[in-house]
This record gives sequence, structure tokens and C-alpha cells, in this order.
Amino acid sequence: MPSIDLHCHSLYSDGTQTPQQLVQQAIAAGVEVLALTDHDTVLGLAEAHLAAQQTSLNIIDGVEISAIWQTQLVHIIGLNINPLQPSLQAGLQQQAQARAKRAMLIAQKFDSLSIKDTWPAVLALADNNPNRVGRAHFAQVLVERGLVNAQQKAFDKYLGTGKPANVSLPWTDMNTAIEWIVAAGGVAVLAHPARYGLSQTKLRALLADFKAAGGQAMEVSTANEKSNIVQNLANLAQRFELYASQGSDYHGTNMTWLQLGRFAPLPTQCQPVWQLFKEKVA
Ligand code: AMP
Ligand code: MN
Ligand code: MN
Ligand code: MN
Repeated sequence: MPSIDLHCHSLYSDGTQTPQQLVQQAIAAGVEVLALTDHDTVLGLAEAHLAAQQTSLNIIDGVEISAIWQTQLVHIIGLNINPLQPSLQAGLQQQAQARAKRAMLIAQKFDSLSIKDTWPAVLALADNNPNRVGRAHFAQVLVERGLVNAQQKAFDKYLGTGKPANVSLPWTDMNTAIEWIVAAGGVAVLAHPARYGLSQTKLRALLADFKAAGGQAMEVSTANEKSNIVQNLANLAQRFELYASQGSDYHGTNMTWLQLGRFAPLPTQCQPVWQLFKEKVA
């Protein structure tokens, strides 16, 4: 079985590495198949393919779309998409504009909390492109300024849902995100289902809606998840007849606790999602 990592980020979203660097690091880590899944953008994929061209690494075209289910923010990964497909492109364009607008509003909230001038600092981290700014960039600035001692604390204190610098966004709804992925010929994967803080009942309702909307897979093994959680997700995947995905969610040097290719193996009962794009994995 090749080493397969179907979730990571570059500096086209909130990662720190270029697609070229990710390709080199993946090869060094023994990864043989890598999906680049930046938040709400496919702009890094061409560079990833170029860098992987004369190497043994296979690149899967991916994206991680921010979406709303009921009132909950969820992340829907598209795997093996055609990144040029027009309705996906148009959808991601909308998301980018919403992201840029939210970023400015978050900076204003920090100003009013007397944490001044976060805007130029986050822009510098995001290659001066407002479309790429995410909450992780703000968290990084707060850590650099010594206002919190870890990114996680920045979310707990300021950036998480209901916290004083949180700005909720008109992200697309989950069904539409799935439609974009399916229109682009991809497989829709519910990312890190255990990270939404949902009760088991609510999680089952989410999975039922996700499946009814055309979702085909869920992430069963995400980095740093406890083994009983991975097992529970595997059981849910089986129950809802969803394929299972796996990935590191690697972001680069800003999140040292994540490493390419590093996560628990899928429990044996799982149907691996790459059965749906076998030709890219061989
Ligand atoms: P955004 O897409 O801008 O809303 O930011 C979401 C990203 O922030 C996630 O993909 C993670 O990279 C990061 N993130 C979310 N919650 C946390 C947390 N509690 N601690 C650290 N990073 C987080
Ligand atoms: Mn992220
Ligand atoms: Mn995510
Ligand atoms: Mn991610």
C-alpha cells in the first residue's frame, strides 16, 4: 500500500510552504500520493503538478471548501476535481471575496480590542493577498506578538465561534459545496468530522444530510486524533456507507504538531476513498 496523504495546505491558503516545497517534503517523508487541499482555492495545484513532474510523487487535485450546515461551519474536501471546471471556479471566487472581506472585519475587531494593526501583519503572512487571509494568520500574529502562547489559545480567546474577534461569514451552504465538487468530477469528503464538537446524534444527522446531498466519503483518520475517535469514525463510515479518507492536514512551520504523511492507518473495515480514483494511486 503506498503512503497516501489526502489533506494538506500551501501558502495559497494558510500553510507556510510553497507547493514546490510540499512536493519535496512529501517525497522526503516517503509519501507517494499527495492531495493539495488549500482552503477555498485551487491556485496552488498547477505548481504542485509542475514540481512533481519528473518525480515519483502523484498529485491529486484537491480543495477544502468552507461551508455551513445548519449553523455549523464544516469543511468539505473535494478530491480528484477538475480545478478548471466553471461552476467550481465561480464558487471559489465568491468564497475568496467573502474571505477577504471577513479578514478586514476581523482586523477591525482587533483594533477595537486595542490589538492594533493586525492587517498589515496578516497580509505579509498571506503573500499580500487578502483572498488568502485566514484565522490561522491572525493567530500567528498574536503568537508572534506574545499576546497568546499558542495558536490554539488565539482561537480559544479571540477567533473561535462566539469569541470577540470572530466574524461569521456567508460561506456557501454544504449542499452547494458538494454540488461544486461533483460538477468538477470530484469526490466530496467531509473533513475531520470529530473536530466540530458535535454530539454523536448531531454528527449522525450531519452524515445523513451529507450523504443525501451527494457526499461520498468522510475523513476517518486525521492527524493527532485519538484511536477511539478514529474507530468511532470508521464505524460511522461503515454505517453510512461512506468511503474513508485520511490525511495529515499539514500546514507547515506554523503548526509544528502536524507532519506530512503522519496519521493513524485506516481501520481495516474501511473502504479507502482512493478506490474511486485508483488510476492516480497505482
Ligand atoms: P478559516 O478558514 O480562516 O476560518 O480558518 C480555519 C483554519 O484555522 C483551520 O483550517 C485551521 O488551520 C485553523 N484553526 C481552526 N481552529 C483552530 C484551533 N482551535 N487551533 C488552531 N488552529 C485552528
Ligand atoms: Mn487551515
Ligand atoms: Mn479543515
Ligand atoms: Mn485543512
